[in-house]
Amino acid sequence: PDFLLSDFNTLRVLGHGNGGTVYEVRHRRTAAVFALKMVRADVSLRHQVQREVDILRRTVGCRHVVRFHSLVRTPSADVALLLENMDRGSTDALLRRRGRRPFPELALAAVARQALLGLAELHSRQIVHRDIKPANLLVNSAGEVKIADFGVGKVLLRSLDPCDSYVGTCAYMSPERLDSVTYGADYDPYAADVWSLGLAVLELHQGHFPLLPEGVPPDWAALMVAICLGEAKGVLPEGAASDEFRAFIDCCLRKESGKRWSVAELLGHPFVSGADRDESKQALRDFLQDNSDESPVLKEPRKLGQIPPISI
Ligand code: ADP
Repeated sequence: PDFLLSDFNTLRVLGHGNGGTVYEVRHRRTAAVFALKMVRADVSLRHQVQREVDILRRTVGCRHVVRFHSLVRTPSADVALLLENMDRGSTDALLRRRGRRPFPELALAAVARQALLGLAELHSRQIVHRDIKPANLLVNSAGEVKIADFGVGKVLLRSLDPCDSYVGTCAYMSPERLDSVTYGADYDPYAADVWSLGLAVLELHQGHFPLLPEGVPPDWAALMVAICLGEAKGVLPEGAASDEFRAFIDCCLRKESGKRWSVAELLGHPFVSGADRDESKQALRDFLQDNSDESPVLKEPRKLGQIPPISI
C-alpha cells in the first residue's frame, strides 16, 4: 500500500546523512513505529536516490539488512523512504554516546556475525555495499545488527557509471580500492567490503579509527599511508585482545585481497562461530543499555522540509 506523509507523526530525529534527515515516525492509524529517511532530492542526488530504492527493493527478505517498506508520497512529491526502525541507532553513534568506550569482544562477536550474515545476503544477490563503516551498522534493542544505507551501494552486472567509482568513505576503503581510485585498476568489490567490515569491527574494539593515532583528523595523505603502508597487525599487539579476535581482524585486513578471507570463510572463523550466539547477543544488549544521550522526542510533530520533486 502507498503511504502519505500525513499518515505519520514525527517522534524525533534519528540522524543526519549526506542526503537528508532520518526521523523516527509513528503511523497514526496502527501506531507502528518506523524510520523515515527524507532525501533532499535535488537533481544531483536524483540518480543516487533512484539507485538506493532500486537496491533496497532487491534486499527484501534479507534478515540482516535494514528492511525497506515503501516509498512515502509527499504533497510536493518529495522523496521519503519508509524503513524498519533500528531503535538503538548506529554503532558509531553508540560509541560516541558511551564516551568511546570500546565494545566488549563478546558483544563484537554478535556484531561481526550478523554484519557478515548481512554481507552474505547482499553478495549472494550480487550487491556490494561499498560503504561499510560503524555509521552504517545499525542495532536494535533485541541485539540485532543490520546493514543500512545503500546510497553508494552498487548492483553489479549493470552498466557501470564511471562517476560512481569515487564515492564512499575513503577511510574505510581497502588498499586495492584506493589503488583503483589512483590508477584505475580493477579490484574485487566483495573482498573490499570485507576489509571495510574488519576495519569497522576493529574501530568498535578500539573506540576510535584504528589506523591513525587517536584524535588525528584523517586527511587523504595520512590515510593513504596508513592504509597502504601501515600494518593493521600493529594496531593489535599480542595481549591487546584475545588471540581469536586478533586472528579474525588479521583475516579481514590482509592487504592482498586474494589472501583476505571471504565472507563465508569468516562466518566459520572461531571468533565468530566459537562464541555462543545467545551469550554474545546478550552482551551486545547489555552494552546497549545506557541510552542517556538519546536525541529528545520532539514536542510537536515537525513539518518535514519542502524539497523539490523527483520521479522514481
Ligand atoms: P545517508 O545515506 O544520507 O548517509 P543514512 O542512511 O546513513 O543517511 O542515515 C543517517 C543516520 O540516520 C544513520 O547513521 C543512523 O544514525 C540514522 N538512521 C538511518 N536509518 C535508520 C533506521 N532505519 N533506524 C534508525 N536510525 C537510522
